[in-house]
Amino acid sequence: MTAQIMDGRRVAKALKDEVAEEVSRLRGHRCRLATVMVGQDYSARAYERRLVRVADELGVGYQGHTLPASSAVEDVLAVIGGLNADPRVSGILVLRPLPAQVDEALVFTALSPYKDIEAVHPVNAGLLALGTPRFMPSTPASVFYLLDSWLDEVGESRPEFYHRSTIVVVGRSNNVGKPAALLGYARQAVTVSCDEWVSRTGRLAEVTSGADVLIVAAGVAGLIGAEHVSPEMVVLDVGINPVTDPVEGAVHLVGDVDFAAVAPVVRAISPVPGGVGPVTDVWLMRNTAAAARLIMAASS
Ligand code: NAD
Repeated sequence: MTAQIMDGRRVAKALKDEVAEEVSRLRGHRCRLATVMVGQDYSARAYERRLVRVADELGVGYQGHTLPASSAVEDVLAVIGGLNADPRVSGILVLRPLPAQVDEALVFTALSPYKDIEAVHPVNAGLLALGTPRFMPSTPASVFYLLDSWLDEVGESRPEFYHRSTIVVVGRSNNVGKPAALLGYARQAVTVSCDEWVSRTGRLAEVTSGADVLIVAAGVAGLIGAEHVSPEMVVLDVGINPVTDPVEGAVHLVGDVDFAAVAPVVRAISPVPGGVGPVTDVWLMRNTAAAARLIMAASS
């Protein structure tokens, strides 16, 4: 048995059509994404390049701001302040990681909650935790969008599936793991969340093996192997890890799941690349359009 592949590119394409229509209803120019990158992290740059392309395809405006890695938090806050006040910008994304001297919590709290499309401002994170989100952060939202789409394809009722499922989320960051667990709660699934201590204490396989749905967002290449999964499991791999080929020297991206070892064992799996990532890019544009609509509604 080989797992069904959850094809993120195909799902993203359908979502793209929906978002493009929404953007055209907004007449394009009111819908603009601004990114803020501090330093030149490999993954952040790769993400930014993808966003430029998708924004262009969907007719979403885009402007990128890159600050030197040596920037002080005040420099970053000044850029955020400018973007908050700029009426042409509807959504702001702060690319992670930020350098150690730039306090992430200060930066996130400085975002306008109406432009904070990744729901990292404490008000938006709180609304999400209460089950009344203003914005659903793009990566965890995309994990569930991909999963919901797959359930529709295989003809399983979403509520029935979630109500009888245990979802295990490996990784507990504020932007991916924690909100993914919150979206699991929202679907009334038994939801278990763990972080690196589950590995350090040797319990990773014990915890993951109880999952019907395993969501992995740890940022550790090949963390999940055949010993962590079971035949009926649905595995969503969020990890994006640059790995250098020892022979050719070229850098390529791999997930947190050892695809070759796990795919023959489980029911369904999302690949890297081509799984969660392409949906995330489009979801961010969807949130940018939603923010534009919010701003329009507030000013009318
Ligand atoms: P992060 O470093 O902020 O958080 C990682 C989390 O994983 C932490 O809670 C940490 O404790 C946990 N962890 C680390 N090692 C672990 C281990 N051995 N066992 C169990 N848990 C462990 O990272 P993040 O921003 O949450 O991103 C996670 C991964 O997802 C990265 O590879 C990142 O590149 C990727 N990512 C992908 C998308 C996408 O669209 N597909 C978007 C954002 C992030």
